[in-house]
Amino acid sequence: MKQKEIVTNGTANNVAVEMIKEYLQTHSVYGITGFVKTEKEICDKYKDTDCFKEWDSQKLYAIYTINCYHCTEPHDVKIGSREAFHIYHGADFQLCHKCYDSSGIIYSVIRDGVVVS
Ligand SMILES: [Zn+2]
Repeated sequence: MKQKEIVTNGTANNVAVEMIKEYLQTHSVYGITGFVKTEKEICDKYKDTDCFKEWDSQKLYAIYTINCYHCTEPHDVKIGSREAFHIYHGADFQLCHKCYDSSGIIYSVIRDGVVVS
């Protein structure tokens, strides 16, 4: 999963944008993807700012590019929380809507996956 951009609808607070970038920033260590900073590190760093009040995952989120398991085409998905990241990253496969419509039922019987927009 590759982070494409950070979307900041309705906020002009640069510090809040920096915070969500750090919050969703991942790296790979020995092939295992994880977050660069812990939630405690983020909280400690930004606790004296207004960021947490501005944090609305509907308005402030990252777009990640995911490759569809079936057609291998890239698709963008909105991710505004670490929980959402884990759902996509931890899924055995991701399907775009087009492939889900034609083959999702078959895949869902085999193992767990997620559908991306
Ligand atoms: Zn597809």
